Amino acid sequence: MTAGEVDYYALDELLAEDERLTRASVRSFVEREALPLIEGCHAREEFPRALIPRLGELGVFGANLKGYGCAGLSNVAYGLIMQELEAGDSGLRSMASVQGSLAMYAIWRWGSEEQKRRWLPEMAAGRAIGCFGLTEPDHGSDPGGMETRARRDGAGWVLSGTKRWITNGSIADVAVVWAKLDGVIRGFLVEKGTKGFSTFEHKGKMSLRASVTSQLAFEDCRIPAENILPAVEGLRGPLSCLTQARYGIAWGAIGSAMATYQAALDYAKSRKQWKDRPIAAHQLVQERLAWMISEITKGQLLSWKLGRMKDEKTMKPHHVSMAKRNNCWVARECAKLARETLGANGVVNEYPVFRHLANIESVYTYEGTHDIHTLVIGEAVTGVPAYNPSMD
Ligand SMILES: Cc1cc2nc3c(=O)[nH]c(=O)nc-3n(C[C@H](O)[C@H](O)[C@H](O)COP(=O)(O)OP(=O)(O)OC[C@H]3O[C@@H](n4cnc5c(N)ncnc54)[C@H](O)[C@@H]3O)c2cc1C
Repeated sequence: MTAGEVDYYALDELLAEDERLTRASVRSFVEREALPLIEGCHAREEFPRALIPRLGELGVFGANLKGYGCAGLSNVAYGLIMQELEAGDSGLRSMASVQGSLAMYAIWRWGSEEQKRRWLPEMAAGRAIGCFGLTEPDHGSDPGGMETRARRDGAGWVLSGTKRWITNGSIADVAVVWAKLDGVIRGFLVEKGTKGFSTFEHKGKMSLRASVTSQLAFEDCRIPAENILPAVEGLRGPLSCLTQARYGIAWGAIGSAMATYQAALDYAKSRKQWKDRPIAAHQLVQERLAWMISEITKGQLLSWKLGRMKDEKTMKPHHVSMAKRNNCWVARECAKLARETLGANGVVNEYPVFRHLANIESVYTYEGTHDIHTLVIGEAVTGVPAYNPSMD
């Protein structure tokens, strides 16, 4: 059994045939083409770039977007793609999430017709890579405080500022950059090679090592007038994109949990101690496995229901917060319990568990930390925002 087949409640029955086929093709790609490369990439701290054209061929990038060369799949099919990618490695899913749900979505939803025609077909095919620059060195959970500025300059715009922790940053052909113009947040497209735009990669990450994370610097960076995203102003621009990406993360995190659970189950059944008995025969080991499969099953149901709500257009951002928060927590706990179950083998790269354990720390933190999603849910149920209580 592979990680993708972890299905305690026969939830497969809830999926349409085409959704199952999509999942099967991505699962096969991950097992045959991605996993053989991942440990090496993780060790060398690099993204397996050779996989990008294949991900394009599979229709992974912006798979739930319609038109402009995108696959136009259901949101559940898109979620299943994210689940399968992250069962392989969170870095793989991060690359696809940022490409499709952040960079492509920003252009698809808020871009001009020319921007859509220019970028979306290339990005869907994996011939162009995108990144999404929101976070800054001093503004993470509170992006509204951003210091990156744009100003009008004759026929265009001039950007100044720094973005930090940007996935795909150094390999991107186009950066979607959020900056304040006359005090109002606006989105801009900055192409690789633009004068005044530089990137450097954050090295030394102990998590998401098979993913490119970069700093973007804009020093009097001039871009043409047509590179502004015309259709949105304010924080709702980036937040609308984050809702899409967080939706995919909710599914992806369960993929990570399925992988660590499966590794723990396989190990528990084969590892023998105490007069040749498999460790799976011990109640304490079974308790861990029972906890993992129970929480994974609940997380799968949460993702599936969220996907159907998204397809029916009843999904709200606070619904996404619950799934992102819960499923990342479940994945983090599962990785920890799986590592314990593997004993010393839980810390070596012969098994995928420690890599998932390290990766999930980033996933737990990015796209709104666990705390921030707690506050989103808290606000939804009480009507009272508690993000920034008075210090008086
Ligand atoms: C590998 C990686 C890739 C990333 N990729 C991208 C990307 O592509 N694009 C992008 O724009 N960003 C990206 N990020 C940035 C990520 O979204 C931020 O790290 C995240 O939003 C948290 O911000 P911060 O790290 O500045 O933490 P901070 O905001 O400084 O938070 C630190 C701690 O304080 C807590 N905290 C903050 N505010 C509150 C509050 N009001 N109430 C309670 N607790 C609070 C947080 O929960 C956290 O525990 C990435 C990050 C990582 C690690």
